[in-house]
Amino acid sequence: MAGENILVIGAGIAGLNAALALSQPGRTVTLIERDPPPPDASADAAFDIWERRGVGHLRHSHAFLARLYLLLREKYPDLLQELLDAGCRELRFEDGIPTTLRDAYVPEPEDNDLTILTSRRTTLEFIMRRYAATLPGITFMTGTRVKGLRQDRASNGTPMITGVTVDNQGQDLTLTADLVVDAGGKNALGMDWLKASGIHVRQDVEGAGILYYTRHYRLRPGQEEPPRSKLPNGADLGYIKYGVFPADNGCFSITLAVPEVEMEIRRRIVHPEVFDQICRSLPAMAPWIEDTRVEPKSKVFGMGELKSQWRHLIEDGKPVVLNYYPMGDNLIRTNPLYGRGCSFAAVEAQALANALDASEDPAERACQYHTEVAREVRPYYDSMLKQDRAAIRRAANGLNPDYEAGFKARLAKSFIEDAINIALRSDVDLLREAMHGFHMLSHPDAWLKKPKNFFKVMRVWARGKKRNKGFYLPRIGPNRKEMFELLDLSPTVDWETYKNAA
Ligand SMILES: Cc1cc2nc3c(=O)[nH]c(=O)nc-3n(C[C@H](O)[C@H](O)[C@H](O)COP(=O)(O)OP(=O)(O)OC[C@H]3O[C@@H](n4cnc5c(N)ncnc54)[C@H](O)[C@@H]3O)c2cc1C
Repeated sequence: MAGENILVIGAGIAGLNAALALSQPGRTVTLIERDPPPPDASADAAFDIWERRGVGHLRHSHAFLARLYLLLREKYPDLLQELLDAGCRELRFEDGIPTTLRDAYVPEPEDNDLTILTSRRTTLEFIMRRYAATLPGITFMTGTRVKGLRQDRASNGTPMITGVTVDNQGQDLTLTADLVVDAGGKNALGMDWLKASGIHVRQDVEGAGILYYTRHYRLRPGQEEPPRSKLPNGADLGYIKYGVFPADNGCFSITLAVPEVEMEIRRRIVHPEVFDQICRSLPAMAPWIEDTRVEPKSKVFGMGELKSQWRHLIEDGKPVVLNYYPMGDNLIRTNPLYGRGCSFAAVEAQALANALDASEDPAERACQYHTEVAREVRPYYDSMLKQDRAAIRRAANGLNPDYEAGFKARLAKSFIEDAINIALRSDVDLLREAMHGFHMLSHPDAWLKKPKNFFKVMRVWARGKKRNKGFYLPRIGPNRKEMFELLDLSPTVDWETYKNAA
């Protein structure tokens, strides 16, 4: 609608995506952000000194999946160029294919689409923000905290948001708006404000079952990243998952994700020397942190309270509130392991732009927004929940020294390890199709549901371990008992605690 005035709470990833999607001549979009603006200097300065108390995970590893990368490439090519100029990296399909497929690999044009954009999150955010500020109608109001929502009622009685109240560096202000986008992140207070005024928003919540630990490193002058080996740069040992995230300007980070039930490891891993000791014991990570190659650039950042959360703002086909659009982590949260949160935010921002273009009626807009988001995002959300639940069960079983898997569990494990994983390491077409799902370009299970692909996977399984020998990974790291010995921890304490708590 011409002349529309939009307020966006938060200038994080979702707020910035909203700015990109909603900017339009004649429309004003004001992003209200509690934190100060980035230092207008360099990617390094942004990482070293940008104060972002509103984003606790700012200095954790971040990567944008192809769904978001392609959006940037197609709709905002000059922004993508600015990100690349600042040192952000494109990790292509061919960079990730296993050694078993490299020699026979023939590139397909679509492989260029299966690209991850990666860098320190401070760099991604700093450049996106600088670009967004140049778009028509976009204004940033920083150092300003939103304190509440202004509310009225539509003629049919539905609550309707008409603006926000803010604390602008000690001064209380009321700002009116045609609509409010609440991109206040995982700690956003919008739902609390709605609840206080009698509006109930239903939500599904489940713990992700892990904690995140990240440390940053930089290559020493003249040094390069280790050459690719047979081992993947990310894998799951059950009691710990690891991944390396190549970043901008010679930097990279390593993230170790630890199941919540592994209390002993959690207690120690925040110490940098222990974090590095664990990395050195993982054959794929060890070359990344050789003293002669890199220097550490940060402490170990830890993050807990990770959850999946889906908020429902449509009940019985009707919006519970009008002109209020939660976006990003305030609408949907997921386990960061899958790296999908930023892509979800981008999809939501585009969905809102579509809804605003399609109708001027607030109720129709809300229904279209939430319907499109559910259609585009829910399959990935459900698939991640399923995987999280299985991982939580496995982690708890891993504590129990007497655990013996039953037939069903052994069969499921074998299907993943001996059928799916081996098929993906032995057939590039299968890998390509599976990566489409991973990158949110097709339904996450679509590749396996195709009879042709399912048959291929079953054939690999039927061939048996002996004949598939060449496609198994070498040992990816110590088992739990060995790691506990290395770190001088007791392997049974957590099981006793878990049993007693249960
Ligand atoms: C450890 C970790 C690793 C992750 N890794 C990845 C990854 O690799 N790839 C990926 O796609 N996703 C990843 N995610 C998810 C991703 O970071 C989030 O989905 C994304 O940040 C959500 O963006 P957002 O704008 O909703 O929230 P944020 O980016 O957190 O931004 C919220 C903003 O709102 C501001 N704000 C809050 N309240 C107010 C207020 N009252 N007034 C004014 N301003 C306010 C905050 O200061 C902040 O700037 C990760 C998440 C975590 C926790």
